[in-house]
Formats: sequence, C-alpha cells, structure tokens
Amino acid sequence: MTNVTDPVPHRRSERSAHYNSARGNQVKKRIYLSLGSNIGDRAKNLRSGIEQLGDLGTVVSVSSIYETEPVEVTGQQPWFLNCAVAIESELMPRQFLSRALWVERALGRRRSGTRSPRTLDVDILLFGDSVIQTAELTVPHPGLAHRRFVLEPLAEIAPEVRHPLLDLSVRQMLEQLPSNAGAVRRWKEE
Ligand code: ADP
Ligand code: MG
Repeated sequence: MTNVTDPVPHRRSERSAHYNSARGNQVKKRIYLSLGSNIGDRAKNLRSGIEQLGDLGTVVSVSSIYETEPVEVTGQQPWFLNCAVAIESELMPRQFLSRALWVERALGRRRSGTRSPRTLDVDILLFGDSVIQTAELTVPHPGLAHRRFVLEPLAEIAPEVRHPLLDLSVRQMLEQLPSNAGAVRRWKEE
C-alpha cells in the first residue's frame, strides 16, 4: 500500500515503473500451472514436462502427484495424473503460453479436441494478479474455481493465494466445492 504522507516509497515506485517499461516490462511474476497426463507413462510425462518448463523460468514448487477421475471430458477416458507447479518467470503471458504449448508438443501431444486424452496438458491457472481475456488466453483459468483435480494439488503449494476476481483463496475455493466434483486421491508409484 502506498503511504501518501511519505514521498520516498512513491518516488521509488515511479522510478522502478520507468525502469521496467524501458526493459520491456521484465518483472518477475509468480505463475501457477496445472499439469495433467492420461496417456502413456503418465508420471514420466509430468516429470519431463516440469523439467522442460524450467526453461521458461525458475520452478519454485511442485505439488505431489494426484490420480484423478476424468471430468468434463469426451467419452470414456483413462484416469489422469495431475500436479500443480509454481514458476517465477519474466516472460509475458502470451510468450509464456506459446512456450508452454511447445512443451506439450515436445511431449508428443497431438491435439484432437478439447478435453481429449493427452500425454501432457499445461494450463495456466494464475499469472501474478493478471486478469487476461483474449482469444487464446483466459487467466485466471476458467476451470480453476470448480475443478477438484486442480485445487487439491494447488492447495498443497499455495493455499493462501487468492483468485483476483473472486477474491477467494485457493483453500476457500477448495472448501466450497460440491462433493461430486470428481474423485481425487494422492498417487503412489507402484
Ligand atoms: P483444455 O486444457 O481445456 O482441454 P486445450 O489444452 O486443448 O484445452 O487448450 C486449448 C487452448 O486453450 C490453448 O491452445 C490455449 O490457447 C487456450 N487457453 C486459454 N486460456 C488458457 C490458459 N489459461 N491456460 C492454457 N491454455 C489456455
Ligand atoms: Mg490445456
């Protein structure tokens, strides 16, 4: 919060705003992702995805892996493995998305329709406090507040982070879910 009686912090923030715009607005943002896989070696797909996403910034936390019942999908599908990842990155949202989609493709994803089976799905849940509504990118992710397979892993690494539009924390969104929002359980490697 800006203290109006003290001009020093105000001057500082003006200077840093100018500095940032001069460098192409390269400010580090904390980005939360949901990763999912339901084809092939699902855990390996998630782990390789996380490793490759390291090229987009610094991976600062990774949740446990959860096994989740397919919801909102077309036809019968195998269960998913899902996890949540926090990354700090200076990339702008559009750049970040296109590079995340490269990682999906590098893991062999063939697009055959929304919510179809996939080797790796990378969804941007939150991008700092940004609210984005363009043809290719919606942030916060529209599924965030009502998907248990997203909120359970995310609550493990960021329970107090808030949805910038709903003004609810991840923990509160999870508590508000109806009990029929799909089965989600911790996954253990055999
Ligand atoms: P879904 O994850 O809903 O099954 P896809 O993974 O096939 O769908 O994504 C299709 C498109 O969704 C992407 O090409 C991307 O442009 C768009 N999209 C919009 N908002 C987001 C977001 N927050 N994170 C990831 N993709 C998004
Ligand atoms: Mg996706």
